[in-house]
Amino acid sequence: MTTPVKKVSGIFSTREMATKQTCPNHAECMKVIQLILDGEASNEQLKHFNQNLDQCLPCMQKYNLERAIRETLRCKLEKKCVPHDLIANIKTKIDEVV
Ligand SMILES: [Zn+2]
Repeated sequence: MTTPVKKVSGIFSTREMATKQTCPNHAECMKVIQLILDGEASNEQLKHFNQNLDQCLPCMQKYNLERAIRETLRCKLEKKCVPHDLIANIKTKIDEVV
């Protein structure tokens, strides 16, 4: 009688068995993600983050999203053209994460 629940996150299939769907330290993770993307994280923070990323799905998604946004912004600053579908793609990702 029960409908089998389909896994949505095919991209992380090798990791998803051990991956948490929610992050107990999300605020802390977000701080570190910002530092890493700004290039200001210490080696200790980088190490901790890489370990955490293996088991923390929301933070992995958030990191990928933030990185994509920054790349787009940098493209704009360097006055390279940003493809419209890339921007649309990022907006879709934001809607998924938020
Ligand atoms: Zn986390």
